[in-house]
Amino acid sequence: MGTRQRVISRTSLIEDPPRESPTRAIETTPATFPMIVQTSSDSENSSTAAAQVAEWLEALADTLSQHKLEALDGLFEPDCFWRDFLAFTWNIKTVEGVASVREMLSHVLPRMDGSIAWALDRASVQCEGEVVSAWFRFETAVGRGQGHLRLRAGRCWTFFTALRELKGFEERKGRRRPLGTAHHYGPGRTTWLEEREREAAALGRTEQPYCVIVGGGQGGIALAARLRRLDVPTLVIERNAKAGDSWRQRYKSLCLHDPVWYDHLPYLPFPEDWPVFTPKDKLGDWLEAYTRIMEINYWSSTSCESACYDEAAKEWVVRVQREGEAIVLRPKQLVFALGVSGYPSTPVIEGHETFTGTQSHSSAYEGGEAWRGKRCVVLGSNNSAHDICADLWEHGAQVTMLQRSSTLIVKSDTLMQRVIGKLYSEDALERGIDAERADLIQASTPLKLSAQMNVPIYEEIAEADAEFYARLRNAGFMLDFGEDGSGLHTKYLRRGSGYYIDVGASELVAEGKIGLRSGVGIARIEADCVVLTSGETLEADLLVYATGYGSMNAWVADIVSPEVADRVGKCWGVGSDTARDPGPWEGELRNMWKPTCQTALWFHGGNLSQSRHYSLYLALQLKARMEGIETPVWGMERVRHLR
Ligand SMILES: Cc1cc2nc3c(=O)[nH]c(=O)nc-3n(C[C@H](O)[C@H](O)[C@H](O)COP(=O)(O)OP(=O)(O)OC[C@H]3O[C@@H](n4cnc5c(N)ncnc54)[C@H](O)[C@@H]3O)c2cc1C
Repeated sequence: MGTRQRVISRTSLIEDPPRESPTRAIETTPATFPMIVQTSSDSENSSTAAAQVAEWLEALADTLSQHKLEALDGLFEPDCFWRDFLAFTWNIKTVEGVASVREMLSHVLPRMDGSIAWALDRASVQCEGEVVSAWFRFETAVGRGQGHLRLRAGRCWTFFTALRELKGFEERKGRRRPLGTAHHYGPGRTTWLEEREREAAALGRTEQPYCVIVGGGQGGIALAARLRRLDVPTLVIERNAKAGDSWRQRYKSLCLHDPVWYDHLPYLPFPEDWPVFTPKDKLGDWLEAYTRIMEINYWSSTSCESACYDEAAKEWVVRVQREGEAIVLRPKQLVFALGVSGYPSTPVIEGHETFTGTQSHSSAYEGGEAWRGKRCVVLGSNNSAHDICADLWEHGAQVTMLQRSSTLIVKSDTLMQRVIGKLYSEDALERGIDAERADLIQASTPLKLSAQMNVPIYEEIAEADAEFYARLRNAGFMLDFGEDGSGLHTKYLRRGSGYYIDVGASELVAEGKIGLRSGVGIARIEADCVVLTSGETLEADLLVYATGYGSMNAWVADIVSPEVADRVGKCWGVGSDTARDPGPWEGELRNMWKPTCQTALWFHGGNLSQSRHYSLYLALQLKARMEGIETPVWGMERVRHLR
């Protein structure tokens, strides 16, 4: 037991000491990326606060162990939040308000076998204004977790619990790492390579994988790495020829919009000299190497044709085509990791079939070489539209962007300085915050609060970059910071679209180098031009639809069935009741990384950061099921939206 830790439960001890806390603690101010401030762990304030948190945690332990749920009113604020990743609900769930906390606990506690041990990390206790916050560890009958709380006037405002490992099924790392060889000689001894080749040859042929992941992009690969660590036999099915191809196939000029500190894959961080913004082919190579190093069973050039759930056998029947050979797989669990969105959504516009130029969705855009001196129209004004317009302009094309509705723009540098960099940067690393720690800090704020907390941050951004935004407005560009001003991350969670992280294209728009028509769409397409809804005609040799993607359950409709797609419902979005994210409020992303309404069907995806963090929780759910651990799910949302 670490000296700074206080064990709350009297019935069991947490044996694993917490990681040493950095000398600076996490500021309690909740925001998507909370600020870090210098604190002193031995100050009078801190020790009073630590005593307060310890007392509160002790009272919680007492309340839960004795199921005294009426006492919760004294412990939690009426409008409190409890965000739980698996530990209590076997779900990814935020419960809002003390009455809902009580309801949740009344269901889950009777099913939780044995007592819960709580251990406060005293060094993490922090006071900021009226808020006292702290990190803690806890242990249930089945696993170990980490959590965070924020108290105000002695009652809990936000509570976060995340299951991090299953007891008895810990990852084989550190002291538990495999030996890698046998230190004795005997006939028939196999080498690592022979064993690896045997496994690869058998899986999907003579041995069925427990889990099949359809889609071998960054999401499928990260999840497979987690499952490998947990000894869950897993096969990744990828139709491309090589891991990493989904990035290689994107347009030539593409670099990640997010910085390197945000993008690490699980277990194997990028080297220290890795560029801040990874070029897409470099990322492709990294994913390919990672797949090999992490010993992922990866069937490339393999397409998943169909899947159906055999209720009697309680397994999936997955039909795949592997280099022309039809193979049937029978996994117990099926994960769709087919991309953060569904199919490219291309509007069908009157006259499109008469167009004599080239028209394609942005996902099929290859690069600007062929378009020097040509007239290009890009429909859309988000990330892809900006990247493509800039690329065309660089290649000497005459390009016009059509902006149909307002767009959130934030300069990449500003985003780094004021938002992401607080948790994901060299500065953060110097404060002891690596990506794993940062992921937990970020998760400790419930999504409803994080949206509210981001509003002032974006107000500051608007002020700091006022001149930049004024020039864009002067060029006619329609701007927003989200319907409630809550910024980029919130918009991403709500609809996965509607923004551009500016890496230079906005300057081209402001200067008129990229032509802009805003508040218009395309009314009609003719042989060599598009007619805008304003009546204006633009001649065009190339028409790019940078019009986004549909919901992920569209893949399910095709591969499984429309009925199952409807049973599962829309993926992504939190029910914010803003554009493309219909209400009511659900509090967590729909269907992502958690049980769905179809038995044994899961969704994984998102950006690299989400893929890294949430792959752990999905892997734990799959491992628990494989090992026959009881996983009673509480708080499944009703399916309200189909696509
Ligand atoms: C222009 C652009 C810039 C972006 N910038 C960033 C960024 O900076 N940072 C970031 O984190 N994200 C970024 N993203 C988002 C990023 O692409 C997605 O987050 C990411 O690709 C999702 O990874 P994934 O593994 O879920 O899906 P994908 O990478 O799309 O992988 C899905 C895989 O499934 C395969 N597949 C599809 N159907 C089948 C089938 N039937 N059978 C077998 N295989 C199949 C596909 O070939 C593909 O390889 C960007 C996206 C775009 C378009």
